[in-house]
Amino acid sequence: MEADFAPVGEGIELLDTGMTGQRELNAVYLLLGDEPTLVETAPAADAPVVLGALGRRGIGPEDLAHLVVTHIHLDHAGGAGVLLDRFLRADVWVHERGAPHLEDPARLVSSTARTYGEDRMLAFFGSPEPVDPVRIHTVIDADVIPLGGRALEVLYTPGHASHHVALADTATGVVFTGEAIGSHLPWVDVYRPALPPPEVDVDLALRSIDRIRLRATGLMTSHFGPVADAAEGCERAAARIRAWSETVRRLSADTDDVDRIAEALWEQAAAEHLQDAGVPIEPTRYDVSARPPPLSPAEPGARPRRTRRGRAGTPCGTPAPRPRGAPLARGCRRPRTTGGACIPRPRRRGSALVAGTRAPPGTGVGRRAPMPPR
Ligand SMILES: [Zn+2]
Repeated sequence: MEADFAPVGEGIELLDTGMTGQRELNAVYLLLGDEPTLVETAPAADAPVVLGALGRRGIGPEDLAHLVVTHIHLDHAGGAGVLLDRFLRADVWVHERGAPHLEDPARLVSSTARTYGEDRMLAFFGSPEPVDPVRIHTVIDADVIPLGGRALEVLYTPGHASHHVALADTATGVVFTGEAIGSHLPWVDVYRPALPPPEVDVDLALRSIDRIRLRATGLMTSHFGPVADAAEGCERAAARIRAWSETVRRLSADTDDVDRIAEALWEQAAAEHLQDAGVPIEPTRYDVSARPPPLSPAEPGARPRRTRRGRAGTPCGTPAPRPRGAPLARGCRRPRTTGGACIPRPRRRGSALVAGTRAPPGTGVGRRAPMPPR
């Protein structure tokens, strides 16, 4: 699937990477200037699309200066290693908790495979290449990433993931939100929470959205595209998270029947979609876990293999936080050898959603304890 960058702001261009064969699902942004920069990399499977678009845009192997990722889930940073192999002068910037998983993506891959099934994960996202630690800059809240003539201010925005950051562009005031506000489906103007296991924290997610709302003149979402009215977008995204959280809280007070809770969220998602868009929800349009893997380009005519149904609707896999006692230096380039664990949290008896649960598209619900009440 070929695509090109298109202007979406002052010195900002968007590439629809066509992830999983779908349009308006995954965005990569190019910041123009003295030091051309990509915000997000797309998954490794989409690297040919990104490389092709950069080439046609005139960004040669010596030109790209930076990759900046909001978090290390495969759809946001999985292509980093492949892109760095092509752009030899570029570095990658990531929150300190995410850095170990760029260096050694094995545990992240393993975690993602548990969510989607290995076949589906590989078909949709590909395999990330490890990133040489000397090419990694780690950041924390309030750091400023200089890009030559413009900069990105780091806003630590946990909730979707413990290492998630949003990035405020000093030149325009827009904020690259990653998945901090969830997703916005532009073709129907519907907001959807993105709350994947195992790190989701609803209260933190709402606080993060508040931070973005106070800072942003506009939103640049990864799934998908610009939202001009930042305040309205943040308010609608937060309201949806609250509504889904309330549903889980209310039902989990009465039942441990995970299927019942999941079914209620499916119905809620469908009703919200119909209310907002005026048309029925299309689960296979957005929900990666609702579709079989695509045909492999390497195997013309191959039939999709059957895989177990995944549970997370958004294309994410989440490692556990980096262990305490292994801090990363701010903005450092020093080699690091220890990676954060990616071990699923033990399921509390009678309180957690279980494997095999069908989750509403985009919820990521399926293997986690019910969301805490607000
Ligand atoms: Zn994610």
